[in-house]
Amino acid sequence: MNCNDFNADIIPVNEAISPDILQEIKEMEKCGKCLQCLYSYIMLAPAMTDKELIELFGADMLEMDELKGELDELAGFKLNPYPNRLRIARVNKSLQKISLQQERSGKALVKHYINECIKQYEGDMLEEYYNMAP
Ligand SMILES: [Zn+2]
Repeated sequence: MNCNDFNADIIPVNEAISPDILQEIKEMEKCGKCLQCLYSYIMLAPAMTDKELIELFGADMLEMDELKGELDELAGFKLNPYPNRLRIARVNKSLQKISLQQERSGKALVKHYINECIKQYEGDMLEEYYNMAP
């Protein structure tokens, strides 16, 4: 099995990761630079150390600036006529946790995520402001 066949939807958000899932991830072939790998990486990150994750994926994927586009898609920042709402909700939950981990807040993709959240928030505020106008 490689990363394209693996669906990180089975990684739980708020529970410990079962040894079975971990074993499956360990055994699959991972490229360490695609959207599926990034999805798995983000879902695992709150419960694992950087060292464990780098051992699994061969790279610190949260430092990979070139995956901004993939992150935008996973987090729902990109306009998409068929958004994967379940995945977006799960990824945001996980990224919010990661953003609160101080040692990770300086990583390239975490910084990008926080900036995008601020942008969205400001956009919403502006929209609310205009909606209030008579
Ligand atoms: Zn991959």
